[in-house]
Amino acid sequence: MDCLFCGIIAGKIPSKKIYEDAATVAFLDINPANPGHALVVPKKHAENLFDADDESLKAAVIVAKKVATLVKERTGCEGVNVLQNNGKAAGQIVSHVHFHVIPRKQGDTVVISYPRKQTDEKELDAMAATLTKKRSAALDEEILREMGRL
Ligand code: 5GP
Ligand code: ZN
Repeated sequence: MDCLFCGIIAGKIPSKKIYEDAATVAFLDINPANPGHALVVPKKHAENLFDADDESLKAAVIVAKKVATLVKERTGCEGVNVLQNNGKAAGQIVSHVHFHVIPRKQGDTVVISYPRKQTDEKELDAMAATLTKKRSAALDEEILREMGRL
């Protein structure tokens, strides 16, 4: 399999590893958002969150906490973003599941941005129902149409 992060995990591709255990590895991002930006990667190959098994993900989240703590202590940053992208539409470039650990300082140049859209009670109720109730595809379509999403 031709996977960049599998290559790094196997040591075939060089990286600046900062943590390793049986299930997980962490190394510095080659294009850091801020100094200390690290990637926490399950050793077992899976493309994204949907494909990865729960054990790998549990281990990786715990390592993300360890790495965030390490980075905070050693870089003196004030905050940390832990981010995870799934799919091209969500900005995923490397197809091996990973968590970004990004040290942050007040007023730094990093922009992690999304709009805070207006909504209302009806829309929120409809979405909550979409996500919780077992329904026909036709009814889902009707609700989405009502919400102006179709
Ligand atoms: P994604 O957009 O898939 O969530 O993020 C992939 C990350 O991997 C990017 O931040 C990118 O800079 C980093 N990256 C890509 N290629 C390499 C590489 O060869 N080595 C390291 N250390 N990081 C890489
Ligand atoms: Zn891989």
